[in-house]
Amino acid sequence: MSTGTAPTVSQPTYRDGDFVPTREVPFSSDLDELIAEIRAGRAPNIGRFCGYCSAPIGQEHSCGICGETTDRTPAVDKIDRDLAQIYHAKRKREGLYVHLAAWTGILLATALSILMILLLPGWTKAFAIAFLVLGGYFAGVFFGNVLIQGVAYRAGLNMFARRWSEWRSQS
Ligand SMILES: [Zn+2]
Repeated sequence: MSTGTAPTVSQPTYRDGDFVPTREVPFSSDLDELIAEIRAGRAPNIGRFCGYCSAPIGQEHSCGICGETTDRTPAVDKIDRDLAQIYHAKRKREGLYVHLAAWTGILLATALSILMILLLPGWTKAFAIAFLVLGGYFAGVFFGNVLIQGVAYRAGLNMFARRWSEWRSQS
């Protein structure tokens, strides 16, 4: 399948809709949290990390994310800058999808209530105002949540898989 030039990108693995880390796509939610804390200045970039995928491993001799052992690949004491950038980009990508989805919901609700104002007779136009307020809110929440569970989640992981394999092939 490989073209010989670009690295082969593995697809993220899902079990019952939840992502399962593999050696090919070793996304670590612990590392994700830690990188966010470091970027916010609430944690230092120091610890004991898997030499292959950088997941925090504490005092363990093997990595729970990718399965690498410290005998084969020695642990490292800080997170690679470029890898931290990839984790950060994944978060931003997901946030963008969720915002777009929420705004789509709000705009749809607004368009519907304008339609109601035009079509409803007399005082019943008041329903359109209630719909605008409540409908906009619920549409925003609903679209945002549905998308975070589905599209945004998978889009973020696909992006991570692609950029991780690029990073790995360079280092
Ligand atoms: Zn690992």
